[in-house]
Amino acid sequence: MKTKIPSVNYHLTKACNMRCKFCFATFTDLNVVKHNFERSKTIITKLANAGFEKINFAGGEPTLVKELPQLLAHAKSLGMTTTIVSNGSMLSLNSRFNDIAANVDWIALSIDSLNDETNINSGRAINGKTVLTIQFYLDIISRIKKAGIKLKINTVVSKFNNVENMREFISTTQPDRWKILQAMPVEGQNCTNDGLFQITTTEFDEFLNRHTGLIAPSSFVPEYVDDIKGSYVMVSPEGTFFDSSIGKHFYSEPILEVGVTKALSQVHVDFNKFIKRGGIYQWSENQQDYFNITISGGVGSGKSTIGKLLAKRLGFEFTSLGNQVIRRAKEMKMNIDEFQNYCIKHPKEDTEIDNQFSNNCNNNSRQVIDYRLGFKFIDNAFNILLKVSTETAKLRVKSAERSTENWQKIQERELSFHDQFLGNYGIVNFLDASHYDLVIETDYLSPESIVNLIINQIKQ
Ligand code: SF4
Repeated sequence: MKTKIPSVNYHLTKACNMRCKFCFATFTDLNVVKHNFERSKTIITKLANAGFEKINFAGGEPTLVKELPQLLAHAKSLGMTTTIVSNGSMLSLNSRFNDIAANVDWIALSIDSLNDETNINSGRAINGKTVLTIQFYLDIISRIKKAGIKLKINTVVSKFNNVENMREFISTTQPDRWKILQAMPVEGQNCTNDGLFQITTTEFDEFLNRHTGLIAPSSFVPEYVDDIKGSYVMVSPEGTFFDSSIGKHFYSEPILEVGVTKALSQVHVDFNKFIKRGGIYQWSENQQDYFNITISGGVGSGKSTIGKLLAKRLGFEFTSLGNQVIRRAKEMKMNIDEFQNYCIKHPKEDTEIDNQFSNNCNNNSRQVIDYRLGFKFIDNAFNILLKVSTETAKLRVKSAERSTENWQKIQERELSFHDQFLGNYGIVNFLDASHYDLVIETDYLSPESIVNLIINQIKQ
């Protein structure tokens, strides 16, 4: 089975030459000491085969793993986008930098403060004693840019640095992405420092407000503690998946023993949270799109025909609420009208179907979803409304040979949808254009030209 989440963090080692007090990846609860090259290589192959497109090597400090360049080359040879997150200390060594640069697409530098005292206090210093200077960071960044590598800066905001100002540094360095993380307590990793480094949401917001407008909004990526928990796929130095959604690390069985699918199913990672925290961004020219498309409209608008055609053109899956309703009606031994009347009297049945269907859709991406209420219930979606005149709708229904249904009956059903949506969800008119990203008058357009129009709009 292919993974829904396309990016993975592989923490290769727990070794690190810094002593950050807020570090959530100390892995003091794991025994593994030495990095095993062959094992890491096999794990990377398995991750690529499972559909992960981007791999981020982390630690500890990944540049301390001597085989990192070979692992990057291996991931690249499997078609993955490669990134590392590093404290930067080893990247000033020419040969080390060049070996890594040969096969890395992004380098994320962890820079929390430009104040030496702050970095000493927080432990963001070699052996907790020697800080990296602003000039050191500027030199590394200049090297990264010269090598054509994308630059990310990761900043953890904690009690140590939350009142500081990095505006000038960020304006000067212009990272392709600036990830700003609210320091997160994780039992067993940094909990001995609990209380020392934590900040409130208000304090985090103040830091964010102080730093807006310096880079493109899409490159400015804040992550609150709630966004971080359960939104990352992470592999530990022991080759197990892990998550920290319950405030401490929970580890799966080893990937090499049970396989990626089973191991991944043992940890908690929420695709919706991953999307919401901006987990999908333009990390490579060739990456796939991860979103859904919903299609809504009245009877005869062509939702199903257009939806299937569009899905085929995009290589997406097609799914329809109508099919789920038909299945449910059959289970209850009713025809579709009887079932709809039943739903009018029992609105809970209706809302349950919406819940089930939308949950299912929201756990996946790259789907075209035929769903009148998709604009309300489907996350991370491009919402389309197909409009049609009554005359054309009648002709389409007739030519579709829905002979068992006369027009009046179909109209009655359509009206009862409006009543149900109003009663269940307070939606006055689901055909109101303001709900949608794209509205198409379909009367005089062929299905192919409608699909072309949609694809052009999506590209834009
Ligand atoms: S440099 Fe990174 S891995 Fe090392 S202690 Fe600091 S946060 Fe943890």
